[in-house]
Amino acid sequence: MKWKAEIENLKAYQPGKSVDEVKNELGLEKIIKLASNENPYGASPAVKKYMQETGFSTEIYPDGYATKLRNKLASFLKVNESQLLFGNGSDEVIRIIARALLSPNVNTVMATPTFPQYKHNAVIEGAEIREVPLMKGAHDLEGMLHQIDEKTAIVWLCSPNNPTGLYINENAITAFLDQVPNDVLVVLDEAYYEYVTASDYYDALELMKKYPNLLVLRTFSKIYGLASFRVGYGMGSTEVIQKIEPLREPFNNNFLGQGAACIALEDQAFIEQCRKDNEEGKLLFETFCKEEDLDWYATQANFVLIDVKVDGDLAFKYLLEKGFIVRSGVTLGFPTCIRITIGTKETNQKVITSLKEFLDKSKRGEI
Ligand SMILES: *Cc1c(COP(=O)(O)O)cnc(C)c1O
Repeated sequence: MKWKAEIENLKAYQPGKSVDEVKNELGLEKIIKLASNENPYGASPAVKKYMQETGFSTEIYPDGYATKLRNKLASFLKVNESQLLFGNGSDEVIRIIARALLSPNVNTVMATPTFPQYKHNAVIEGAEIREVPLMKGAHDLEGMLHQIDEKTAIVWLCSPNNPTGLYINENAITAFLDQVPNDVLVVLDEAYYEYVTASDYYDALELMKKYPNLLVLRTFSKIYGLASFRVGYGMGSTEVIQKIEPLREPFNNNFLGQGAACIALEDQAFIEQCRKDNEEGKLLFETFCKEEDLDWYATQANFVLIDVKVDGDLAFKYLLEKGFIVRSGVTLGFPTCIRITIGTKETNQKVITSLKEFLDKSKRGEI
């Protein structure tokens, strides 16, 4: 068959181990998944109620324009409805953007390590990929500017960055956007936006008014606790959004996901509480890392990347046997780190206890 050359060495996404898999393999009763930055509190209780009570006809296609969700979100964000594009998760929005702008004739600039989907989609489209190493876990915006030339189509920013959790502050992003040519699309992925508490964080909605070449990604998968429904969105100038809208599949958001996102958006008290609880969790990990003299990244998201100073796979395996699924830094570009999703208070304390055991054992050479 005549496969395109670009996909020759592509690997299918390797999902982390599921809870059931680990239970069966290790014969453990209780497994806690802290690998994919899902909300440990689930979604707003109002969503559960909605799921039990909603009635719909399974044979009818969902609203392809996600009209109700669009209206609600537009008024919540104070943007025009024409400035929103919904995706089957923000993953799909990333794919749509890449498809619209990338080809073998152009290049695209991104940090490394960062969220892998930017690169993955750029590879499929055959674009030249220019990766700029992080500096101490943060975007090297100067370095990224240097990589931009007349053939650059997209620059990807991830703030807070996955997997480090570090954010870009207001001064830095403004200075950056001022220097990016206005025919280069800047995609700003804010999947963890709702968790941010730093006072010098920028307001993406304000930036959008000033920079029509800025496209912001957000999602209902993380703090809203709706990862299984696949609802994410892009927002930007009407001009940019309307240009990419035809690339979206007609019915890409299902009925239940649209409904659940509407309900979840209304319960901002729940979001506020999750942010506060996450803040406490962050503090717990920070204190632990200081006590243990471990390098960690000052996260603004709901995960922490911790340098355990030995092979991250070893820490991953040890924690797995204790019933915690975390992410080894080996596949994330940080070979001596692990990334842990911040869980409930009880979970955080337990995983810290197990991690402490691991560190002590490894110091004694028992691992
Ligand atoms: C989780 C995540 C996404 C994907 O979110 P979906 O809306 O579930 O597709 C996008 N970007 C980053 C940085 C993420 O961590």
